[in-house]
Amino acid sequence: MADSVLVVAAHPDDEVLGCGGTIARHADAGDRVQVLILAEGATSRQLQRDRGQAGDELSALAQAAQQARVILGAQGVELLDFPDNRLDSVDRLDLVKQIEERIARYQPHVVYVHHAGDVNVDHRRLHEAVVTACRPTPGQPVRRLLSFEVASSSEWQPPGSAPPFQPNWFVDISAQWPRKREALAAYDSEMRLWPHARSLEALEHLARWRGAQVGVDAAEAFCLLRQLV
Ligand SMILES: [Zn+2]
Repeated sequence: MADSVLVVAAHPDDEVLGCGGTIARHADAGDRVQVLILAEGATSRQLQRDRGQAGDELSALAQAAQQARVILGAQGVELLDFPDNRLDSVDRLDLVKQIEERIARYQPHVVYVHHAGDVNVDHRRLHEAVVTACRPTPGQPVRRLLSFEVASSSEWQPPGSAPPFQPNWFVDISAQWPRKREALAAYDSEMRLWPHARSLEALEHLARWRGAQVGVDAAEAFCLLRQLV
């Protein structure tokens, strides 16, 4: 039976970094995947937030998000405009409400979100908001909750500062890796040069290493937060 899947990400590119191959694999299986991106991206690079001045960059990001959606086969991608890298200045309830609204609309069985221990504050806030929005009350459609890693955030947290990313759920993306690579390349402005952790080379190494950990060509790794069967 086709599944309904919701990916909740902080920034345009996180959905591909964290679970692009898995999105493509869901799409290949006939599942309906919706992507919700809450923070606008780009404006954290300014001294002071100015959406007007970042207009070109924001529309390029929105275009990249659409391109990536098409490459991966997701049904929809929605970009909200919460302030980039400033989700700690937003009431958590406002984030929870947005996520709850999408859960009510799409009735997802599977939800993907950021790891709780990332360096990036937006990632951590969204993790908390999704855990709240997915609390297992009667009638909750979400039956599987997984957190993904984002290279250049999940592995940058010093030991003892936050929970380390210790995956216990792996998705074989050997067949989907070329599409993940293409979707990453669509986010050209967010990619960095090797040996940055968010370079295409590093991301391929990560996919291959996650694959090697479970004996396949390429994989994405997750932490299973809850499963109801
Ligand atoms: Zn991010």
